[in-house]
Amino acid sequence: MRVQATRESTAWVDVDTARRTCSCCNDTCEHVELASDLVLDRGRRNRWLVRSAFHKELRRGNVQEARHWAAWMVHCDGRDAPLEYLRKIWSEETANLELAVYLHGSQARLPTAIAWFCHATKVWQMPAWWDVFQAHEEGTMPTGTRAARWSAEMRDAADDDAALAELRDQVLDELSSDGRLTAQQLAVFRTRYESGRFENEDIVLLLLLCSRLPACDVGRPDSLPSVPRRFVDGSTLLLPPVCAYDYHTAVGKARMRAWLAAHPDSGFGFGVDTTPVDLRWAGGLAPLFWRVQAWRQFGSTAGMDATAWHELGVDAEALQRFAAWCGWWPENMVA
Ligand SMILES: [Zn+2]
Repeated sequence: MRVQATRESTAWVDVDTARRTCSCCNDTCEHVELASDLVLDRGRRNRWLVRSAFHKELRRGNVQEARHWAAWMVHCDGRDAPLEYLRKIWSEETANLELAVYLHGSQARLPTAIAWFCHATKVWQMPAWWDVFQAHEEGTMPTGTRAARWSAEMRDAADDDAALAELRDQVLDELSSDGRLTAQQLAVFRTRYESGRFENEDIVLLLLLCSRLPACDVGRPDSLPSVPRRFVDGSTLLLPPVCAYDYHTAVGKARMRAWLAAHPDSGFGFGVDTTPVDLRWAGGLAPLFWRVQAWRQFGSTAGMDATAWHELGVDAEALQRFAAWCGWWPENMVA
């Protein structure tokens, strides 16, 4: 099979997985290990890397690469795995209720789901999403509103699962009886909450309560971007992007620990050159804050991609406010 020679390159090397040989002839060949593990062992050692790469490309809106990693995820984890994963993360990345309903419907098709997900407005691109999220985390929602009351009740009930479930039920009933949630949208929230596998569904409900959910987001695509067959038929393998090596993978964690060991007086703070660790597209709050700031400055994924983690000038006042409530930093994830 053919494996991408180096990241960002259009050249390929030939790997024989059975004989464990590679045409690159490098002592540091990473092609054989990855290709053999995925092909022969269904990603026993690298399935989380595949999943992380899939997630990062969805987040970056890269349809072709997302389709590629979804195909490898099917090979490793079964046919339903990518779609089930999209259902779990829809609210981590978007607030697109129409997309959520599609993902949970029996007619959902993976290529359409991926293209739609890639093009949907991302949470860091929505100023209202960040305003509401931050105010909820801080406990500073404008007082006297239903949203403020619910936010406060949710914060008070943070450690009580039964109380949280009841508060969610109350709001779902309210929103559906006054027509702000359709029956299908309501079913999505119930499915996610009942499964215990959900992300930022609470924030989407808060946005609805505040009437601050953007009315129009990207609808279902009319046509699908064409993706060359070799990207999805198992005959080729891309190297996972650098940003896939975060705290979701053993290799990524090892890299982060090695970086911290080499820079004992530093964490992965803003303005710090973290090379070769790339946290711009990682999950968690600090990377999310980075993306909010980067989007405000560049307004495009391309502009964000062209700017390293440490090159972004983060607004001092926004950072001070964020740091006051955020107890989550990347280095804590690998300590
Ligand atoms: Zn090689």
